[in-house]
Amino acid sequence: MTTPIISIRDVHRSYGRGQNRFDALKGVSFDIHEGESVAIVGKSGSGKSTLMHILALLDAPTSGSVELEGVDTSTLRGRNLNTTRNRTFGFVFQQFFLTANSSVLENVTLPMKIAGIGRSERKRRGMSALEQLELDDKAKSKAVNLSGGQKQRTVIARALVNNPRIIFADEPTGNLDTATGAVVEDILFNLNRENGITLIVVTHDEELASRCDRRILVRDGLLVEDSAALVA
Ligand code: ADP
Ligand code: MG
Repeated sequence: MTTPIISIRDVHRSYGRGQNRFDALKGVSFDIHEGESVAIVGKSGSGKSTLMHILALLDAPTSGSVELEGVDTSTLRGRNLNTTRNRTFGFVFQQFFLTANSSVLENVTLPMKIAGIGRSERKRRGMSALEQLELDDKAKSKAVNLSGGQKQRTVIARALVNNPRIIFADEPTGNLDTATGAVVEDILFNLNRENGITLIVVTHDEELASRCDRRILVRDGLLVEDSAALVA
């Protein structure tokens, strides 16, 4: 078996201290292999977002380990950590996190600007991502003027420009109507199937979860079901 792209062991995450301490994750372990599509499901407050932030290196566990391709990520700090995140991951969140008064192209090229990529290359890759999402005609529009579905497609284009190996999506269709949500889902699963991008989706939508290769159920900070464990 190849080295997992992500491997976590006995991950705990507590918020607050003393009497106010809350244990949001209480010892979670699993591996994710490149190319998998994984749904993280569970009730509100069960620890899904906390878990995803740790997998995406946006947050560090209170204890336990997180390995990215066999590399212990606790050794990554500062610029190194930012570069790793920026090169390896794309993010698609429910709240779009677009800069309202910037153009669609400016929003999409931002991760490349952060990565230090030159202006013409940024534009070329940004336009190519927008074409892929059928948004090239909106390149000059301000993000604020887009529909919900167009905003989420802009977010996906932005997630793609650095050729990520993993896309993290937290309730990616949560703010969309059913039809638009289905379009966004199709785009994400196509990227998984055609480009081999690993897809990690947090959702309480069982239908979306059922489209994934694997379903991880979190309850009160613990992993209580992992459909991949049945076949492993
Ligand atoms: P989910 O995404 O499954 O709804 P979260 O991971 O956001 O759950 O939260 C898990 C639990 O941790 C919840 O009870 C939440 O209130 C708590 N929590 C999350 N973030 C913080 C924080 N920054 N400070 C204190 N408690 C938090
Ligand atoms: Mg959440």
